[in-house]
This record gives sequence, C-alpha cells and structure tokens, in this order.
Amino acid sequence: MIEQCACGSGQLFSSCCLQLISGERQATSPEQLMRSRFCAFKIANGSYLYETHHPDFRGNLTAEELTLSAKQSNWCKLEVVKSQLDSNSHGTVYFRAFFIKAGYLYCHTELSFFSKYEDQWMYQRGEFPGDSFTPKKLGRNEICPCDSGKKFKSCCS
Ligand SMILES: [Zn+2]
Ligand SMILES: [Zn+2]
Repeated sequence: MIEQCACGSGQLFSSCCLQLISGERQATSPEQLMRSRFCAFKIANGSYLYETHHPDFRGNLTAEELTLSAKQSNWCKLEVVKSQLDSNSHGTVYFRAFFIKAGYLYCHTELSFFSKYEDQWMYQRGEFPGDSFTPKKLGRNEICPCDSGKKFKSCCS
C-alpha cells in the first residue's frame, strides 16, 4: 500500500489522490485530476481512469483494458512541468511520468488536454512531444527513483 502520495504532493495518499479515486471529493483543477489519474495508473484502477476519461474522447476503451495497460508498467514518479487553465472549463497539463520496466527507468512525456463534462474535470486526450530522456538501467542498491529514500531492490523493482 502506498503511504506517501505518488503524485509528488508530499501528502499522504489517504489525504491526497485516494480521496479523488475513491469518490470522496472531486478534482478542482485539471492538474489535480491529472495527479489522481497518475496514482490510478500506479495502483491499476482502470475504473477510475475510465470514469475520468471524457465520454466524447473515450472511444471503445474499457475499464478492463485500462487496468491491464496500467499493470504493464510500474509507475513510480510524476513531475508536473506546467499546468495551465485556458478557461473555466478547459485546461492542459504538461508532465513527465516515470515508470520502470525490466529494471530500466523510462519517461513518458505528455501534454494532456482536459475539459469539464457535467461539471467535472475529465481527461480528453494527450499529445506526445517526445523527450530526450534516455532509459536508465537501475542498480539494485541504488536509491529508488520514486524518492522514497529506499533502495531500488526493496522499493519499486
Ligand atoms: Zn496525490
Ligand atoms: Zn520506489
């Protein structure tokens, strides 16, 4: 179970993104929604990812597919580079999300578009500008890239 919220807020998961994922409260900005969706990827909660994906942009996606795709990577760290509100119903978040696969650290860079649907912030779609980040092999005794302070072998490996 995650203690510190993986979104990088410095708060506990239970008082941060978990409250959004569990439906206790709603995101009040695109960035908050984006952060909670990152955590939902981390814990492979496909139904939250589905519910927060704008119905007009969801296509044929299913919650099951989202759970499966989330499980394929070990999401470990989020960096929000820039978030912008374009109006009270549209906004973007530019972020870097780091994940681990087979002992290597990778970076997923995305400009995400959000809009409100029935008064709730929803994810529309992403653009992928590319990143100069080179996949990095992680040593077992190295400090884990998730910033837990633990060694990689006893953390996100
Ligand atoms: Zn959080
Ligand atoms: Zn870790």
